[in-house]
Amino acid sequence: MADLEPGSSLERSFLIVDDSQGFLELIESFVQRNYPGARVDVASTGEEALRKLSQQSWSVVLLDYLLPDFDGVEVLAEVRKRKIDTAVIMVTGEGDERLAADLFRMGAYDYLVKSGIDPASLRRTLDQVLMRRDMEQQILSRSDELADSSRQLEERSRALDTAYESLRQKKEELRFLSDSLEATVSERTAELRATTTFLNTVLDSASHHFIIATGDDGLVLTFNRGAEIAFERSAEEVVSNLSFRRLFREGVGGVEDLDELVERCRVEGSVEAELHCQRSKGDFTARVALSPLRGSGGSGGLVIVGLDITHERELERQNEAYIRQIEMANIDLRKKNQEILEANRLKSAFLANVSHELRTPLNAIIGYSDLLAQGIYGELTDRQLPAAMGIGTRAQDLLRLINDVLDLAKIEADKMDVVIEELSLTSLMSEIVETAQVLSIDKNLEIRWQRPEEEITLRTDRHKLRQVMLNLVNNAVKFTEEGLISIETSIEDSSDAVLVVRDSGIGIPKNDLEAIFDEFRQVDGTSTRAFGGTGLGLAISNRLAAHLGGQLSVESTLGEGSVFTLRIPAVLGDVTNFDEASIPVALDPEAAGPDVR
Ligand code: ADP
Repeated sequence: MADLEPGSSLERSFLIVDDSQGFLELIESFVQRNYPGARVDVASTGEEALRKLSQQSWSVVLLDYLLPDFDGVEVLAEVRKRKIDTAVIMVTGEGDERLAADLFRMGAYDYLVKSGIDPASLRRTLDQVLMRRDMEQQILSRSDELADSSRQLEERSRALDTAYESLRQKKEELRFLSDSLEATVSERTAELRATTTFLNTVLDSASHHFIIATGDDGLVLTFNRGAEIAFERSAEEVVSNLSFRRLFREGVGGVEDLDELVERCRVEGSVEAELHCQRSKGDFTARVALSPLRGSGGSGGLVIVGLDITHERELERQNEAYIRQIEMANIDLRKKNQEILEANRLKSAFLANVSHELRTPLNAIIGYSDLLAQGIYGELTDRQLPAAMGIGTRAQDLLRLINDVLDLAKIEADKMDVVIEELSLTSLMSEIVETAQVLSIDKNLEIRWQRPEEEITLRTDRHKLRQVMLNLVNNAVKFTEEGLISIETSIEDSSDAVLVVRDSGIGIPKNDLEAIFDEFRQVDGTSTRAFGGTGLGLAISNRLAAHLGGQLSVESTLGEGSVFTLRIPAVLGDVTNFDEASIPVALDPEAAGPDVR
């Protein structure tokens, strides 16, 4: 409390206000003596006192109650009004309790009665006032400090509140994050469980393939349904109990090769091979693919996917045996076919020669029988005449047959030349229609041919075209008792001559249409008898059509009639484009047949 000691080095200042010069000097010297270093001044009027109080600060004002201009109460009131910070000690002439109370109420620190002032009491009063003032100032400054501290505390508390609030929010956020994390984790766990179940189902669904996964130590970790079937062992028995090596046989094609495969698999990434696998009842062969088990954390895990191919191998062996047998049989067949083709060619060549030799004597027979019938060698009896005519007719039948056979043989022996010439289709058809009319003379038949307005000129083999058309018209007349035979000729696509013979005859059964162009083929035995013929006409016509670079086709309905169509190029090249392979030969199954519908 050194600072509070009166008369200490603390700056003190005293203003003595009194209208008595003597009193002023007395007190001034007293103060200077008792409070060395203190600032001391005097004022003799209330106005002067107030001016000095406003100009400087004063620790203590000794204020005379009665001044020439103001009284002490007015000065005190002015001091309070102006908020001048100083301790006022009122000095009165005589003691008055009521005045003292008023003065204290107005803020005076103390009051002295002039008549009672002595050095000791003055000193005591001044010391007390100074001490009170010091204490007040200290209290004031402490209270400022306290107010500061309280403000700081308030700020701290506000900062703490803010920090607390943000902590609370962070905690909320954390709780929310933790809740959503928990939800996500349980969701993911459920998904993982579902995925695992799904993957197991997938593995087990591949029941034809065995799928085995192993750990670093070779122990089997996964053994799917396919593996259970192939190795005849349960997953329970194998998983975590058995090394995958125990599933394969010892030796070549088994474990030895497997170890080598595992090594290659580590270097190359994945390998395939065929291996012998073990099961309780007999081994089996499997095609396996090995791959390293990725993402397992270890370095030695494997995935082995395999397929039991024992049955496949057996089938392959059987197939190879069959193929070998078929190849042998094919070689045999090819040889036999060659032989047959050669024999057929020889037969045709032979027939061509023999038929030629037969025609000469037959012509003589026909000639002589004619002469006999005409009575050149003498009149014949009624019994001899039909016999001589019969010889002639039969000989002519025989000649026709021989001619047909000769034609066919020539074609098959490839001895038929194609002679190309320019010809008028119109005049050729007139001749054929005329023949048809002669043939149908005894029948109730109309032969109709719409003669084209413009001349149609062809470049082809006249003789062959004539032979085909004559045969078609001849058949139409032969197999039609009454009705209409119509002949149509046209040029189509400006390059093809199309010749159609349409009849309203007996028609051809559907089943027979296929083979109608084969040699010696007639629809049935009874009709052969009824209609005669050799069954060679259509076979020859079909081959001739091919020689003309064209095609013969048929459409027919039983009981309603038939339509035969010959389509040939209007202009046949000088070198015939006839292709031998296109002729249907009965023995060559690959030859193209005629078009039948
Ligand atoms: P052919 O007439 O000498 O017996 P073809 O080869 O000319 O020999 O005819 C073979 C067979 O096809 C005939 O026997 C006959 O059964 C049948 N055929 C041919 N043309 C006709 C037709 N226009 N109408 C009905 N059947 C026919």
